[in-house]
Amino acid sequence: MIIGSHVRFKEEQILGSLKEALSYGANAFMLYTGAPQNTLRTDINLNYLNDAKKIMAEHNISMDNVICHAPYIINLANKSKLDAWNFSISFLKKEIQRCETLGIKYIVLHPGSSVGMPSEVGIKNIIEALNFVITDDNKCMILLETMAGKGSECGRTLEEIKAIINGVESSNIGVCLDTCHLNDAGYDMTKFDEFLDNFDSLIGLEKIKCIHVNDSKNPINSHKDRHENIGFGTLGFLTILNIVNNEKLKNVPKILETPYVSREDGEKELVYPPYKFEIEMLKKGIFNENLIKDIRDFYR
Ligand code: FE
Ligand code: FE
Ligand code: ZN
Repeated sequence: MIIGSHVRFKEEQILGSLKEALSYGANAFMLYTGAPQNTLRTDINLNYLNDAKKIMAEHNISMDNVICHAPYIINLANKSKLDAWNFSISFLKKEIQRCETLGIKYIVLHPGSSVGMPSEVGIKNIIEALNFVITDDNKCMILLETMAGKGSECGRTLEEIKAIINGVESSNIGVCLDTCHLNDAGYDMTKFDEFLDNFDSLIGLEKIKCIHVNDSKNPINSHKDRHENIGFGTLGFLTILNIVNNEKLKNVPKILETPYVSREDGEKELVYPPYKFEIEMLKKGIFNENLIKDIRDFYR
């Protein structure tokens, strides 16, 4: 199973990300090249990169299984603030260059929010922007993430994702499924085979290059987007286990974006990463109902 989580990119950049991933027993990971919430980025440090490459080779971790996620504030769907739209385009171009330097092959992107405009307008803006960003020569592919449909988010249906892919001139574009978002968007994850058949006929399974594996705090079709720890939400452990073990998606990296755990029940501050324990649980295939307690005991 190719599985990991999102990790920090702070001290030692990708080398730090890798060390964090290894501490979780992961063989894949996803990083932001800076803070997820902002677009401040420092140059890639080649010493850290070279050290990371050596350790990755020792651990048999392929660059195919390292994913980048674009910051949340990038919005290609809204052209009413033209400066922000243009900034999003130039940021993504630079982000592709940064990923090419790092050897990363995939950037996950939230398609964008149309903010007060109909989704068709948002989708048209996204296509126009992506046609400035994506070329056949890019060695790093943009993956459109399937969204929960919170507010005016575009990409909440497979039809919208398909419309964007069809509008982009280059075929150098893929998809990242997010199981929490799909549930919240109204897709029944307990019928995952049916969902994949539908995806295949609309878009083609070969376009799926990454899966965000998250449980959801909310019921199907709630359009909320609040992630839950594996087995503790609406999808439940067996539904998620079935997804991560799907034969057709065997070679696709699975990335956890589940919430950190608080020190005690009821505390707001989330401090302990759950990933080591969730990865272990999914690899074993057995639900650990003491997951939260085990995480607290380990990190305390
Ligand atoms: Fe995302
Ligand atoms: Fe996600
Ligand atoms: Zn989400």
